[in-house]
Amino acid sequence: MTQSEMLKLIHDVIRKHESTCEMCWGGREIYCPTCNGEASIPCPDCGGRGGGDVIDSPTAEPRWVECDRCQSLGWIDCTNPACQNGRVPCTRCAATGLDLSDDDLERVNAELAEQGIVISLDRRRRDKAGRYILSNITTFDPDQPLPKIVT
Ligand SMILES: [Zn+2]
Ligand SMILES: [Zn+2]
Ligand SMILES: [Zn+2]
Repeated sequence: MTQSEMLKLIHDVIRKHESTCEMCWGGREIYCPTCNGEASIPCPDCGGRGGGDVIDSPTAEPRWVECDRCQSLGWIDCTNPACQNGRVPCTRCAATGLDLSDDDLERVNAELAEQGIVISLDRRRRDKAGRYILSNITTFDPDQPLPKIVT
């Protein structure tokens, strides 16, 4: 087996055992933590009031000045660059909708062990395509007791 064949095999086994992500329930998106799904946030310059009182002199009455930043609306667009209409890509499953639970991971490890492959896998680390980043892949041959390190 070549190294790329082995990587494909490992990813195929992982895919087979993945289950629905319990953070986005397969929807691939979650509520934006910055705006809680509102797509806008209270204006930080005026505290969401749309303006503020200005006192020109100690004897003058305060006068209301509208906020430039929010055009006196009290709200501005969400400042989270990942936010789209109050939603952001799910961080747990790298927006794939699928995740490995503890039980899933056990099944992956068991199936790979049958093929003589041992991997270590951090479930929270994925590449841009959503594939798990594999490290310390070890293979062993029943006839050769010492494992061979692949990556
Ligand atoms: Zn998810
Ligand atoms: Zn947002
Ligand atoms: Zn404002």
